[in-house]
Amino acid sequence: MTDLLRHNANLIDGEWVPADSGKTLDVINPADGSVIGRVPNAGAAETRRAIEAAATAFTSFKQTLAAERADMLFALYDAIRANIDELAHILTAEQGKPIAEARGELALSAGYIRWFAEEARRIYGDIVPSPFKNRKLLVTREPVGVCAAITPWNFPSSMLSRKVGPALAAGCTVVIKPASQTPYSGLVWGALAEMAGFPKGVVNVVTGSAREIGGELTANPHVRKVTFTGSTEVGKMLIAQSATTVKKVSMELGGNAPFIVFDDADLDKAVDAAMIAKYRNAGQTCVCTNRFLVQDGIHDAFVEKLTERSRALKVGPGTGEGIDQGPLIDMDAVEKIEGLIADATDNGAKILAGGKRHALGGTFFEPTVLSGATTKMKIASEEIFGPVSAVYRFAGEDEAIRIANDTPYGLACYFFSRDLGRAFRVADALEYGLVGVNEGFFTTEVAPFGGVKESGLGSEGGRQGIEEYLVTKYISLGGLGG
Ligand code: ADP
Repeated sequence: MTDLLRHNANLIDGEWVPADSGKTLDVINPADGSVIGRVPNAGAAETRRAIEAAATAFTSFKQTLAAERADMLFALYDAIRANIDELAHILTAEQGKPIAEARGELALSAGYIRWFAEEARRIYGDIVPSPFKNRKLLVTREPVGVCAAITPWNFPSSMLSRKVGPALAAGCTVVIKPASQTPYSGLVWGALAEMAGFPKGVVNVVTGSAREIGGELTANPHVRKVTFTGSTEVGKMLIAQSATTVKKVSMELGGNAPFIVFDDADLDKAVDAAMIAKYRNAGQTCVCTNRFLVQDGIHDAFVEKLTERSRALKVGPGTGEGIDQGPLIDMDAVEKIEGLIADATDNGAKILAGGKRHALGGTFFEPTVLSGATTKMKIASEEIFGPVSAVYRFAGEDEAIRIANDTPYGLACYFFSRDLGRAFRVADALEYGLVGVNEGFFTTEVAPFGGVKESGLGSEGGRQGIEEYLVTKYISLGGLGG
């Protein structure tokens, strides 16, 4: 592939280069198993060079005016918008999601970049009233330094936009390591940054061995910040590895999202939201509903509608007309959900829709609804990451809150109720970083996105998002008495 945006090389210090070994990784289209291209299989040595380039670039990039960085970010925003169709097709080709969802993801990426272009000029400091005579106490905010951004395959564009956007706005330089399943949507950030006029070395992208690249990114003392989205397991490892050089870290990790439907919910709105909160990206999002907790009085009606709507979803290649659900990312994902469904049915759950691989073959899977789920089943504690709705029944509000919070995770949760008092009570009681009340989708660049407990550290987006890329400096200015 030679088009402007689809690079088969890594971007290091302004040069598009192969791996030192010349080795490549195949990039697979999950819709048909075909190889759509090959990207460098780089390791520690290439990563070290990318870090050194970023460290050199940082010495001048951090001196740029906020308005200059904002202008470059606005140019990046324009570049994404001008190329949105091509970018969406690249994304769908390697990731599988329906093209409409890919466009939506790119629009969100552009939104984050615009937001951080605006935020670049609002990095204020403080002047602290001095407790000493003849001294001024100044507090400034500075870019943290070289940032390593490691991202997953499920949102290969937008997960980078909310890391790269604030990093560049703050005056940091970056080394990006995209997931090996979706490297083109990561490499494209190098091409877009070039189009937007960022100086060489400010944005570097390295593809290849996660262990080797991740090892160098976390061990190298030039890297001052590691920002990661992915599994809790890998996140914990990266935190531990980053400890040796005391790096700042942000972590967006796994979830076990409850979706609670109380008897007083608006049933149709709850089902509409459930479809989005469950089946978006074929259930492969960290905020996807993992557990539907439904109160006795509304349980049967909710399950009936959810089943009907799930059966009606159109499954097929993401580029097809009117497709609701694409393929899963790979066969491991298919086998994982087959295992969870088998365990659930062995323990008494009933399959009301789907339950098996789709007739289309490959990694297509039928939208599935299970009723009679219980907290004893594996599906209650493991992240499903697939199009499987598991429905649990509960009797009272306290019980729902107890079940919802009974997990080491704390990313997204949702609940439906028309009672204002309950809305506040339950929102307060849920131990989650993101709470959707009477809605199934809440991601926006203007609000902070992030989890608590083992779901993560830090926030992305909102006015909080840029804080993660800044350090505080206190200057005590004495001798002012003349
Ligand atoms: P997922 O289940 O979404 O693939 P992972 O946590 O396995 O989640 O992967 C997320 C990102 O982390 C990917 O870019 C992957 O290549 C990277 N990754 C996986 N293992 C490591 C590791 N040991 N060190 C650094 N990065 C890693």
